[in-house]
Amino acid sequence: MIGIFGGTFDPIHYGHLRSALEVSEIFGLDEVRLIPSAQPPHRDLPVASAVMRLHMLELAIINQPQFVIDQRELNRQGKSYMVDTLSSLRDELSQQPLLLFIGSDAFNKLTSWHQWQRLFDYAHIAVLTRPGYVINELDPFFTQRQTGDRRQLSRQISGLLFFQPITQLDISATNIRQIVAAGRNPRFLLPDAVISYINEQQLYQNT
Ligand code: ATP
Repeated sequence: MIGIFGGTFDPIHYGHLRSALEVSEIFGLDEVRLIPSAQPPHRDLPVASAVMRLHMLELAIINQPQFVIDQRELNRQGKSYMVDTLSSLRDELSQQPLLLFIGSDAFNKLTSWHQWQRLFDYAHIAVLTRPGYVINELDPFFTQRQTGDRRQLSRQISGLLFFQPITQLDISATNIRQIVAAGRNPRFLLPDAVISYINEQQLYQNT
């Protein structure tokens, strides 16, 4: 099974990295694709450029060979719809189970995503606990797909919903950008190599 983790990663932090590692271990994933978004449909454009966010991802995943950066959203024109991303991954990976994982904040907004029901045609979805976010009442579309049996996810290639508790790290990219802008030290919230790059490029100083 291949894990899919999309985000703006502006910047990538230990909330992302720890989640990806835990999901990879819990579900026995063959690889985790980290997919930086070019133009997120539901939010302001990222502060750092695509090239910079990509470089920070590269610095963050050194020595984690099962984490792979996938640039397909950066190479595509227009808004970065996850349904298009999953459809193109499905074309390439034909019969492999795919597991899209998202935090509970993102899951609460899932029904506003472009063609959200079709996400399940291409992948399973695992929802990860995130501090400060309680899951909203579930749409019947979700309850029909929910399973509590993790093994079922490897028996079919898509279509199931699973709720996965993970270590709670109350870290957000917004908070990191604010810390940098205030001239404070973001150390221990994200990898040192990423902090050095932020400092070199004077990123996030005016956010
Ligand atoms: P921002 O503060 O700029 O909105 P963010 O920290 O939420 O950024 P994103 O790149 O927007 O990071 O998130 C990508 C994915 O990672 C989303 O599915 C989000 O729910 C999840 N995520 C981000 N931070 C955490 C965290 N601390 N714990 C669990 N999931 C997280």
